Amino acid sequence: MAKTSILVAGAGGRMGRAIVAEILKTPGATLAGGFERPDGPDIGKDIGVLAGLDAIGLAVEDAAEKGLTRAGALIDFTAPKVTISNARAASEKGVAHVIGTTGFSDEEESQIADLAKSIPIVKSGNMSVGVNVLTALVEAGAKALSDDYDIEIFEAHHRAKVDAPSGTALMLGAAAARGRGVDLNQVSAGVDDTRAGKRKQGDIGFSVMRGGGIVGEHQVAFTGMQEVITLSHSAIDRGLFAKGAVAAAQWVMGKPAGLYTMRDVLGLG
Ligand code: NAP
Repeated sequence: MAKTSILVAGAGGRMGRAIVAEILKTPGATLAGGFERPDGPDIGKDIGVLAGLDAIGLAVEDAAEKGLTRAGALIDFTAPKVTISNARAASEKGVAHVIGTTGFSDEEESQIADLAKSIPIVKSGNMSVGVNVLTALVEAGAKALSDDYDIEIFEAHHRAKVDAPSGTALMLGAAAARGRGVDLNQVSAGVDDTRAGKRKQGDIGFSVMRGGGIVGEHQVAFTGMQEVITLSHSAIDRGLFAKGAVAAAQWVMGKPAGLYTMRDVLGLG
């Protein structure tokens, strides 16, 4: 199998299944296989059938290692601890890593940055073109408007989402903070209970809703005393993120070691 083929971590997950389906329909992309946790219920099942397609003769494996020997890139939408362990395995095998997982601690973020010294890694809290364009618009809006305008980021997701606020909301918050020339950690409000109470001038606020099957809703409001400017994005189908992840895998194979974002992949600078 060509070393340009793509391995999928968490192949039985919501995103894993969408990624398998996307690889199978993308010209020039080949599926190296997929794996789940060793005691997972999908081990041994046909990966194509799991993705809702015809059987393809590749069974879900119980670890990253075997598949990594056949792959040029690993796409990983799992959970933070799993992704860190996969990044170590990918760096030992010299395989590029596309990380869509969200909810990393600061310590885990720096472990990923270290591993990106030996392999190319694309990491983004949102792999869609739309949200990456939206971050540029939010940064421009925050730069143009004074902090008389309160910034509030609202996100809504399906009931099974683990982390909050979403990785995308944090990306949008970081873009707003960049536009204002401030450190998001110093001004974010509503992320946890420690800063409950009135919003202060200059705060960048977050609010979260969970329910049903919502794929992903994000809204950034700049609210003044006389007007509200709202920028928003709605994900209709998680195939959107899968498409971005497969494009990132094709883009990153053969790139020098380093930590890249979807803005690099999409040429948004
Ligand atoms: P999910 O349905 O829970 O999928 C995660 C999969 O990983 C599950 O099948 C899980 O298996 C599996 N897994 C657990 N441990 C593993 C291991 N050791 N090795 C291999 N696989 C393992 O979650 P999801 O909705 O697909 O989301 C996954 C992540 O992607 C989340 O962090 C989410 O926020 C993020 N996400 C990012 C984007 C983006 O554009 N960046 C878009 C959507 C989602 P079990 O269920 O058996 O534990």
